[in-house]
Amino acid sequence: MVSSEYERRIAARFATFDQDGNGWIDREDFSGAAKALLAEFRTAARSVKGQALYAGAEAFWQGMAGIADRDGDQRITREEFVNGAVKRLHDSPDRFAEIARPFLHAALDLAAAPDGTASVEDTARVLRTLGVQDDIARSAAGTLDTDGDGRVVEAEIVPAVARYFTVSE
Ligand code: CA
Ligand code: CA
Ligand code: CA
Repeated sequence: MVSSEYERRIAARFATFDQDGNGWIDREDFSGAAKALLAEFRTAARSVKGQALYAGAEAFWQGMAGIADRDGDQRITREEFVNGAVKRLHDSPDRFAEIARPFLHAALDLAAAPDGTASVEDTARVLRTLGVQDDIARSAAGTLDTDGDGRVVEAEIVPAVARYFTVSE
């Protein structure tokens, strides 16, 4: 039996990917997320960091489409998401980490100091820009800092995001 709590969580994940809220996930949602992050962190699309973010967004989209776009129409519907992505990502969280990593790496890079680590506050800014509610973004960013040193690194963010999206019943 599918619990309503589970359905609510899946709906929240779908909404996170469906950045423009038009009811399906497609390439525009990923490039739109990249564009919003570049605007938030005042980074030019043509810059090295900007190019890395767009390349990461495209790889993320391609990876998700490969997993979930069963009919190949370049859109992931809610049904494809629930029946394809959720199940298959749950079965292979490492695969999700692999397809999300370049985007997450580039997003963290935008927010990061020269040492490659980002403050919890700037990590929350990334999450807010991706549409996460302010209070949830703050607590999530704090949780991402697993060793509690006040900085968030890729080694902390990738597994955490993979866990979030590979939710199970
Ligand atoms: Ca969309
Ligand atoms: Ca489709
Ligand atoms: Ca840390």
